[in-house]
Amino acid sequence: MLNFKELSKKYQTPLYIYDFEDIKRNYFELKDAFRARKSLVCYAVKANSNLSVLKLLAELEAGADCVSMGEVKRAMYAGIPKYKIIFSGVGKRDDEIEEAILKDILMINIESEAEFDRVELIAAKLDKKARISIRVNPNIDAKTHPYISTGLNENKFGIDIENAKKLYIRAKNSNYIEPIGIHFHIGSQLTDLKPIEEASLIVASLLKQLKVLDIDIKFFDIGGGIGIRYNDEETIRLYDYAQAVLAALKGTDVTVVCEPGRYIVGNSGYFLTSVLYEKVNNTKRFVVVDGGMNDLLRPSLYKAYHAVEAVDVSGDISKCDVVGPVCESGDFFAKDIELPRLKHGDVLVIKSAGAYGFVMSSNYNSRGRAAEVAIENGKDRLIRKRESFEDLIRLEKEFL
Ligand SMILES: *Cc1c(COP(=O)(O)O)cnc(C)c1O
Repeated sequence: MLNFKELSKKYQTPLYIYDFEDIKRNYFELKDAFRARKSLVCYAVKANSNLSVLKLLAELEAGADCVSMGEVKRAMYAGIPKYKIIFSGVGKRDDEIEEAILKDILMINIESEAEFDRVELIAAKLDKKARISIRVNPNIDAKTHPYISTGLNENKFGIDIENAKKLYIRAKNSNYIEPIGIHFHIGSQLTDLKPIEEASLIVASLLKQLKVLDIDIKFFDIGGGIGIRYNDEETIRLYDYAQAVLAALKGTDVTVVCEPGRYIVGNSGYFLTSVLYEKVNNTKRFVVVDGGMNDLLRPSLYKAYHAVEAVDVSGDISKCDVVGPVCESGDFFAKDIELPRLKHGDVLVIKSAGAYGFVMSSNYNSRGRAAEVAIENGKDRLIRKRESFEDLIRLEKEFL
C-alpha cells in the first residue's frame, strides 16, 4: 500500500498521487479484452492530462482522444504518435481544424453538419484531404448522471443516424474529406452494459449500410465511458463489454477504437489533504482541510461520491462534513461521513481522484494548484510542481 503519511510530509498537501503500476494494469486489461480484434485504445486526455501520465501511456502504445488542440499538442509532446490521435469535441475553432489537418493526425471526429462544412472548406483551402469520423448520436439513455449523459437527442453531442448517413454520402463525394471512422460516446461513468450494447448494434447497422454504399469505414470508435467503482457501484465486466461490441461487429473487419479516460486513471489516483481544524456549529461537526473545490471539483459539481479516509488515525468515530477553505458553501468533499477525532496536521486521503481531478482544478481564491506525484516501481517522483504566487501573477504583473 502507498505510504500516504510519508508522501504528505515529503511533498506537502494538497497533493495528487498517481499509481502508475495501476494505470498500466488497467490499460492492459482493456487491451486484452479486445484481443480477438485489431484494437486501438485512445486514452481520453481530458481525464488526466499530466505529461508524465501521457508519456506512460505513449510507452504502452496507447493513442489519444483529444477535445482541444491543447490536448493534441500535449499528447504529441508526450510522445503519442500523430497517427493514433483523434480530435473530438462539439466546438472546434477554424485554427484548430486547420492545425489538425496540417499535423496529419489520425482523424477529426465531426459532430455536426456545420462542422463538416467548416472542415471541408478549410481542407480545400489547404488543398489537403481531411480524414474524418462522424459522431453518431444513437439516441440511447445511458442511465448515468444527466451532466455526463451524452447519447440522447436532447444532448448537444453528435448527429442522428439519418443525417449521419447523408453526411457520409457527402463525404464520399467530396474531394477534401475522407471518411474513415464512425464514432459514438453515450456518456460517462456507465455501469450498465445494455445501453452500450444497443448503441453498438445501432451504429454497427449504419456501418454495414455504408459498406453497401461503398463507403469503407476502417475504425469503429465506441467512445469511452466505462464506469469505475467510487463507492459500491456494480461495474461492467470488461469481457462482457468487449463481447457486446464484437458481437455487433460480426461480419465486418473494422479496427475497434475505444476512448477510456476514467477507467484508465480514476482509481489510480488519490488526493491528499491535511486537517486544519475541527469546528462545531450548533451540533454539526466540520473537518476543515487545506484542499478545496478548486483542487477537486467533482463533489461540488456533480455531488460525486469520493471515499474519504483518515491516514493512520484511530479512535471513536462520529459524523462530520469534510469542507475546504474556499468561500463557497459548495466547497465540500464529503457530507455526513464517519471519521475519528482529528487534529491539526492529520492527513485525509480522498480516493478515486485520478480522473477529472487535477484537470478540473482552478486558481479560484488565488490558490495555487496542487503538486502531482507518480509512484512507479516502488519509487515516488514529482511530476508537477506546486504552483507558487509567482506562477499566479506571471501573466499580469507586466501590466501594473
Ligand atoms: C469524455 C469523453 C471520453 C472519456 O470518457 P470517460 O468516461 O472518462 O471514459 C471519451 N470520448 C469522448 C468523445 C468524450 O467526450
